[in-house]
Amino acid sequence: MKTRMISINRAELDNASLEEAAAILRRGGLVAFPTETVYGLGANALDECAAAKIYAAKGRPSDNPLIAHIAKISDLQPLVSGIPEAGRRLMDAYWPGPLTMIFMKSSLVPYTTTGGLDTVAVRMPDDIIANRLIELAGIPVAAPSANTSGRPSPTTAGHVFQDMDGRIDMIVDGGPVEIGVESTIVDVTGDIPMLLRPGAVTVEMLRETAGRIEIDPAIEGPLKSGIRPKAPGMKYRHYAPNANLTLIEDENWDGGAISAKVVETIIRLASETAAKGQKAGIICTEETKALYPEAAVIRSLGHRNREETIAHSLFAALREFDSLDVDDIYSESFSGDNLGRAIMNRLTKAAGYHIMKV
Ligand code: AMP
Ligand code: MG
Repeated sequence: MKTRMISINRAELDNASLEEAAAILRRGGLVAFPTETVYGLGANALDECAAAKIYAAKGRPSDNPLIAHIAKISDLQPLVSGIPEAGRRLMDAYWPGPLTMIFMKSSLVPYTTTGGLDTVAVRMPDDIIANRLIELAGIPVAAPSANTSGRPSPTTAGHVFQDMDGRIDMIVDGGPVEIGVESTIVDVTGDIPMLLRPGAVTVEMLRETAGRIEIDPAIEGPLKSGIRPKAPGMKYRHYAPNANLTLIEDENWDGGAISAKVVETIIRLASETAAKGQKAGIICTEETKALYPEAAVIRSLGHRNREETIAHSLFAALREFDSLDVDDIYSESFSGDNLGRAIMNRLTKAAGYHIMKV
């Protein structure tokens, strides 16, 4: 299959090009497009064959459900069998935006889209290109992240091209995304809403709007055998570069500045990698980047207190290590509040929960 790439200028949306992309979606094809979180791989969420093509293009396990994206709040009703009060409050506060909610599904939504579940995940993105494309398509658009399953999510059209060239009909290039980590997922089907994946709508924000929020234990650490996460996707190794990634954390860390102990350990580990004749990569921040040896591939994600910048740079950095054939990556830790919870969730998963306490 030949993959077409079209560029869309956000300042002046070209409806004719977006209509071409919308027509592909309507006839059951695959179109990758930018959202404010990461690039999505879109297909008609109500068409079983179209949804099945997403799993094939990504190499995604068929029990890992897709998020249906809508253009306006009134598009939600046909997809669900009820809208609980907490869901109503959260969508009033955060839609359009980086918040996905899980509802009981209606019979309109095929099980291929929901990975066999009786629930459906729905989000209304804020990105102007995503919103216009979904509106023009006139259908809910299932759109998981547009990466090969297991690889870091794409934050530019170039990343999508690396993974999806020849596998999908079209890539809509709208430039780099705004946020850089996937949406927050909240299940609102129970009595108390439950966070299934942290994102840019933080737990702190959810609690302010909806009161009590439970947190799925699968977010915080590796799962004990036999326990299933509520978001099936959270059980797979994810967001991972080809290199071995290790997080280094001071056991007495208060979440503030990185200690000399962590820096020294990373320097030692990087030199051990080099001594084996292999390439080391280091993930750090502006505050520490000058402390590391130039022989390593050093990537600063930004200033430590600018969590938005860290989130925005993370997946691109992981992909870059791959393109530079790095063997071992050593990363500083990030504090786990607010957006930091999403950053640490992606990093610890990418590391396969390999955290070294020093
Ligand atoms: P992605 O779109 O690639 O960010 O992945 C979508 C995420 O949403 C995966 O982790 C899924 O497991 C999760 N998800 C989608 N639908 C549901 C659902 N009905 N219940 C729980 N989790 C869901
Ligand atoms: Mg994904």
